[in-house]
Amino acid sequence: MAKRYLFVKDKKHLFAKNQRRLNPIAIASGIFALGAVGASWVLSKNLWLTAPKSTTPEATAIEALPDRKITQVLAKWEQEARTDLFTFAVPARFQGQTLKEIQLPSQRKLIALTFDDGPWPVTTGKILAILKKNNIKATFFMVGQPLQNYPQIAQQVVAEGHALGNHTWHHWYHAHSPATAASEIEKTAALLHKTTGFRTYLFRPPGGVLNNGLAHQAKKQKYLVAMWSADSKDYSRPSVPTLVRNVLKDAKPGGMLLLHDGGGDRSHTVQALPQIIADLRSQGYQFVTVPELLEIADKELKASKLPKPPTPK
Ligand SMILES: [Zn+2]
Repeated sequence: MAKRYLFVKDKKHLFAKNQRRLNPIAIASGIFALGAVGASWVLSKNLWLTAPKSTTPEATAIEALPDRKITQVLAKWEQEARTDLFTFAVPARFQGQTLKEIQLPSQRKLIALTFDDGPWPVTTGKILAILKKNNIKATFFMVGQPLQNYPQIAQQVVAEGHALGNHTWHHWYHAHSPATAASEIEKTAALLHKTTGFRTYLFRPPGGVLNNGLAHQAKKQKYLVAMWSADSKDYSRPSVPTLVRNVLKDAKPGGMLLLHDGGGDRSHTVQALPQIIADLRSQGYQFVTVPELLEIADKELKASKLPKPPTPK
């Protein structure tokens, strides 16, 4: 029996409905797009409500509708969820910025693990397993070319609650004309969206190169150019202890840690990850995605602008 996930935007819940008589197109767009969009939207709202069946009045009302009507409602919600994603992915104050870390007024020990250059066979899956075991959500900056080859891996990343970023189509370092830069970003964004339902407004330039036209183009399109505050240097395959040390020495509240799940042999990254997680946790860090970090920073910055209560005399 096919299971269909319905996403209710305003009520902030997901519920599943067993459904036997739905046409395949509706099943595909319903389960997949809504599952993924819903999951990423819920993630961006920092809410995970995965009860398989809801008994709320809204759920009951939807279940009573004929299939044709349900398909229409699904399409409407999908559209609304996408609009919300656009809004929530990067708060306005961070759009068009280039940041190495997200400064939190509270200096809370929140930190984001980021993985570049995937989706990749074997290593992305191993990293996902480690993250799942530790109950951590991370952010994956994906490259268009491997995404084309391994769409299921990208779908797994999103299904497991992680956030996505755009890391161009070809992973080129050289200078780009405005048209090539736009195509590198757009083509990747479109495939990410088509594959996972996730519309991202996070961009990381390959190699961290900021002057070859890519970052400029991304900022023009209101992306946040997300650099990093700590570099594992795992692309040069250091020993596992060195890799761990590279990350830990620059760990800071609001930091973004650069690691790689794809682009080459990432076995050292896989080996180092449990140690990195354990050490940062022992220092009191909590792991969040980059979109979560942005939302929290945005809320804190808004709150810090409020007038302070008068001090008692
Ligand atoms: Zn890269």
